[in-house]
Amino acid sequence: MGVVLSRLWRLLGRSLSSKVATSAQAPTNIKSAESVESCPSQSSTSSANSFIHIAIVGSGIGGLSLAVGCLRNNVSFTIYESAAQYSVIGAGVGLGPNALRAMALISPELRGLYDTISSGNLSQDKLHVAMEALYAEPGFGSNRGWTPQPFGAPCYERTSAHRRDLLNILTSQIPANVVQFNKRVTEIQQFPDEGRVVLSFADGTTATATAVIGCDGVKGVSRGVVLSPAGHPEEVAPVFSGKYAYRSIVPMATAERLLGDYAGDAKCFNGPNVNVMTYPISSGTECNIVACKFTDAPWMHPQWTHRVTEEAVRADFSNVDERLVTLITCAEPVQWALHHHIQTSIYYHGLVCLLGDSAHATTPHQASGASMSIEDALILSHVLGVVNDWKELSAAFAAYDAVRRPRAQRIVRTSQELGAIYACQDPHYGEDMGKIVKNLNERFLWIWEHDLGADMKSVRSIFKEKKSEA
Ligand SMILES: Cc1cc2nc3c(=O)[nH]c(=O)nc-3n(C[C@H](O)[C@H](O)[C@H](O)COP(=O)(O)OP(=O)(O)OC[C@H]3O[C@@H](n4cnc5c(N)ncnc54)[C@H](O)[C@@H]3O)c2cc1C
Repeated sequence: MGVVLSRLWRLLGRSLSSKVATSAQAPTNIKSAESVESCPSQSSTSSANSFIHIAIVGSGIGGLSLAVGCLRNNVSFTIYESAAQYSVIGAGVGLGPNALRAMALISPELRGLYDTISSGNLSQDKLHVAMEALYAEPGFGSNRGWTPQPFGAPCYERTSAHRRDLLNILTSQIPANVVQFNKRVTEIQQFPDEGRVVLSFADGTTATATAVIGCDGVKGVSRGVVLSPAGHPEEVAPVFSGKYAYRSIVPMATAERLLGDYAGDAKCFNGPNVNVMTYPISSGTECNIVACKFTDAPWMHPQWTHRVTEEAVRADFSNVDERLVTLITCAEPVQWALHHHIQTSIYYHGLVCLLGDSAHATTPHQASGASMSIEDALILSHVLGVVNDWKELSAAFAAYDAVRRPRAQRIVRTSQELGAIYACQDPHYGEDMGKIVKNLNERFLWIWEHDLGADMKSVRSIFKEKKSEA
């Protein structure tokens, strides 16, 4: 049976390889050509890694980025998604230069497509401005002489997209026959000595693969399959981060009518226990709003979304400028509880490995959750591309864990710290916006300037080491 499956996967791998060759040609509109050249597997046509077949659980930004990476690296896979179709949930996503480099290294074509859907700041002279920082209080700080102060860096170029558009360009790269919808994974059983994993679905069916990559989000089942047997059951459950958000997209014309000159370019409004971000998406025709309310109380509701009244929203932002409050109330009055995985001691166990929010769900303050999942996808697909036998998977996952976990967990930790700074809860910064802006100009550099080419080299060399130790 094992031999038959192995042959089948090799055949499937070959047929995918031919698709890869087609999609890999004629990359369009490449921004980071120098980074792309440092990715040797882009040009590889080796079919060695078709000895494995990966089950990707979840088709969010993480699962889809991994799928594109697997196509480019000739790794055979099937995506299992619980929903009936690809997600169309609307919200904005900002991607930093690190995520854009990762995207280019995964697929120059995808990176080119991103340029067609992303938006920068509306002012031409604010190309490298991430956001402008203001007080959220009435007058936005003008009463104390504060004018909007930019933060960013020369290496940074502001880009954001509608999540729906980002998912669309990702799915445009993926053949329909590698995705199965309405497949809610309920159980994952491992047979590590046989190189086999069995997935059970809510519809009563099962599927077999060599390994599972759990891209099933912050509440995903795969997290328990990794962390409980690895000796960290207390880390499985997501932790409430102490804040919830109201999220919406409104026409930019509405934002301009309400905020006047404060609309348009990306803004970050800060005040005691509140942080509101607004930024352009959809070629500047729409404004994305994320309004966070910080609280000491635990999240007591059974669901992670909770509908309230408009009065409750207004009460949450009672210390905020009325113009901004009115903009926030354009949204459905729904609180989205923000949970994260502040501690994750390992990203794999046996033949099951975590990627994206299932590994390192983070609060949104550094705009880096999706970015980290794209980086994960780059590194994991890259190392899977050099796996020659399922027996090497453990070395591949160990190498991925060694390269990715320190960086991704640092994101989770520092994002939570930044939330406290925004909400004026950090005694070192208090309400001193000048100090906060200084911090903002420094704190993102390690995220944005990161050398992903070096990570790709590292993952290969750690993989070789681990393989020889096995
Ligand atoms: C308010 C807010 C703002 C944000 N802003 C940014 C930003 O500006 N920049 C940024 O980089 N990040 C941002 N993020 C984070 C980003 O949205 C996430 O990190 C990213 O979407 C995670 O992608 P994922 O693929 O790991 O998980 P998800 O998007 O959660 O996808 C998981 C998928 O798995 C499927 N699934 C779940 N369980 C199962 C199962 N049992 N069986 C089969 N399928 C299953 C789900 O249906 C879903 O399709 C923000 C997050 C929030 C909350």
